[in-house]
Amino acid sequence: MTHRILILGGTTEARQLAGKLADRASVTLSLAGRTESPVAQGVPVRSGGFGGADGLAAYLRKEHIDLLIDATHPYAAQISANAAQAARMVGVPILALRRSGSELVEGDRWTLVDTPSDAVQALGPAPRRVFLALGRQEVAAFEASPQHHYLIRSVDRVEPPLAVPDAVYLLARGPFREAEERALLDEHRIDVVVSKNSGGEATYGKIAAARTLGIEVVMIRRPDLPDVPSAETVEALAAMVYHFVEPAADRGV
Ligand code: NAP
Repeated sequence: MTHRILILGGTTEARQLAGKLADRASVTLSLAGRTESPVAQGVPVRSGGFGGADGLAAYLRKEHIDLLIDATHPYAAQISANAAQAARMVGVPILALRRSGSELVEGDRWTLVDTPSDAVQALGPAPRRVFLALGRQEVAAFEASPQHHYLIRSVDRVEPPLAVPDAVYLLARGPFREAEERALLDEHRIDVVVSKNSGGEATYGKIAAARTLGIEVVMIRRPDLPDVPSAETVEALAAMVYHFVEPAADRGV
């Protein structure tokens, strides 16, 4: 019997996981549909919201999904909550890919905050040169402090641009290496970086670069996520899925 797996994605790891599982099961990858030109995913893709936990539960039933995998970004708290709830409603097993965040190391100058609005407050009243390495949904909060110079890097254009007098926009998709990040911070004379603690190598470059340059990082803490069986890496999660799709007896164990 071919198992039917739905992966909630939008991350590099979700795409890698889908590729790994594609020859063992029928895999569909789900994207929120917000990125204008997502990279090719290599498996069938569905796009757009489901309509909350109820909508996702209805989709799981209709498509006869046997296993739900939450491989969304660690800050995508709503879809992760919906996934846990929908899986419970339908009685479908759920696994999650939960990559760990970066740990503070010697030399880091982190100011921890809970939300983008708290990050705005943490910048203080005096004008600063700020690198916003955040999604376009999060940068809107910074209109509340128009006195700063902003360097804003995002995958999709920030549209409309921020209502602030001094902002420079960069369109780029990671991974970003430390040396490149250091050059960027230097070139724009940045004195504070605002970042999420996404974890993973692709986004760590700017954190390491800030440490080397002695620059403060205003770090937005991770949101709480539902407690479901999880793994930290694509390989470890794939191993859990193999156990699910090929029970021990079938593997001759
Ligand atoms: P979110 O706040 O948790 O989700 C908001 C709504 O978007 C969800 O309720 C759901 O709508 C829809 N949605 C989110 N992910 C979906 C998916 N994979 N497939 C179908 N619908 C999805 O999430 P977000 O922060 O807006 O992130 C959206 C997507 O971008 C996620 O897939 C995430 O992995 C990716 N991403 C997020 C970040 C980040 O920093 N947040 C960074 C990189 C990538 P319905 O309730 O209508 O189902």
